[in-house]
Amino acid sequence: MLGSLTPPIFQTSTYTFTTAEQGERRFAGEEEGYIYSRLGNPTVRILEERIAALEKGERGLAFSSGMAAVSAVLIALTKANDHILCSSGLYGCTYGLLSMMKEKYQISHDFSVMDTEKSIREKIKPETTCIYVETPINPTIRLINLEVVAKIAKEFNIPVVVDNTFSTPYLQRPIELGCDIVIHSATKYIGGHGDVIAGLVVGKNDFLNHVAMTTQKDIGGGISPFDAWLLLRGMKTLPIRMDRHCDNAEKIAEKLEQHPKVTAVYYPSRSNRTEQGIDQQMKRGGGVISFEIDGSKKDAQSLLNQLAFIKIAVSLGDAETLIEHPATMTHAVIPEEKRVEMGITEQLIRLSAGLEAWEDIWKDLNQALNKM
Ligand SMILES: *Cc1c(COP(=O)(O)O)cnc(C)c1O
Repeated sequence: MLGSLTPPIFQTSTYTFTTAEQGERRFAGEEEGYIYSRLGNPTVRILEERIAALEKGERGLAFSSGMAAVSAVLIALTKANDHILCSSGLYGCTYGLLSMMKEKYQISHDFSVMDTEKSIREKIKPETTCIYVETPINPTIRLINLEVVAKIAKEFNIPVVVDNTFSTPYLQRPIELGCDIVIHSATKYIGGHGDVIAGLVVGKNDFLNHVAMTTQKDIGGGISPFDAWLLLRGMKTLPIRMDRHCDNAEKIAEKLEQHPKVTAVYYPSRSNRTEQGIDQQMKRGGGVISFEIDGSKKDAQSLLNQLAFIKIAVSLGDAETLIEHPATMTHAVIPEEKRVEMGITEQLIRLSAGLEAWEDIWKDLNQALNKM
């Protein structure tokens, strides 16, 4: 626009028609052009084109939050009495949405560890209309082989949705592995600066056109032009930031493994990738590490309280290193029994490695662990 390097923010709610007939043609879909910003906006359009290009999909759609994206996709793929098969381990609010869909609309769901073909096949029902996967799983960082899931789903003609928030298209591209729809909480690595809540979806034209005209338009979780602009800015540095997040996380994971107060470290290392035959799936391990401490819930909380440099906060993918306690924070909505089954114990701590010097991150974490 006028040669601007950075796209302008089209901060407008509506668009004027030159004539009444033009308005009629726009609504009838006979003429290209904007109508109203919930249905489309030039700044948002640029963002949607870029995420589609990065994920190698046909079309992208932007939403006001990751959950607006998740709900728009899941509601579009299901009707009453359908069934959703999920990875065992999901973002807490996605779990909450599934519970609500079950209670209100009889849309049921099951969980599968998806570590073998059998574990996937045996959970598919005639009424399954969607397979929904997170990998790495939040917050246990277990990995699922997307090529295997996609292959089985094709046999049954069921679309596979992947929440790719933790990996970003820089580290993992599910559509290239045969999956159908990719979702992002763009609040995390895509935005990358802790200043915006947003969601993105990428997939085939047919399905995304359907979402655009139904669950996006009529439920109304579209993104604001300013938030779209913030994501466009964040995206420019995505590969550089991701490499730094990965460098830092690798160092911290290595240090944690050697600490006597740490009983387990969960991070997508080369060994847990090859175990499942998914060495090629992720370019690197990402920026999120989970670990278990030798202690109680109180010890986990006091560890967090001892930190000076690292911030206690949910969310991830920001420039600052963030730490949280999943059992009492992000995954507190999941009933305790289910939570423990998913591996989310009271000793589990999740850390999102920021962009700082890894030595500073480790110095703080190490002193807090030593005081525990
Ligand atoms: C944060 C997150 C979401 C939800 O996104 P919001 O932008 O907070 O609505 C969904 N999935 C994963 C894996 C997340 O980390």
